[in-house]
Amino acid sequence: MLKCKDVTEKADALVDGTPLSWRERTALRVHLLMCHHCRRYVRQLRALVSSLRIAEPSPVSDDHVDKVLNDLDRKP
Ligand SMILES: [Zn+2]
Repeated sequence: MLKCKDVTEKADALVDGTPLSWRERTALRVHLLMCHHCRRYVRQLRALVSSLRIAEPSPVSDDHVDKVLNDLDRKP
């Protein structure tokens, strides 16, 4: 049986989609079913991670970088 401390250590993997073993995932779910403190923690962590993803600038594609470099080469 997991303790709350174990859940907080594994919660980031659960939230960011890091693969967990079937056993780890099941143990986490069983704990979350019974412990509303950890459910709240995971929910807050998930909200934080998703808000950070929105704030993160989108990566620039290689095509865009090539276009900008080509445009710069053409300028006198
Ligand atoms: Zn707990």
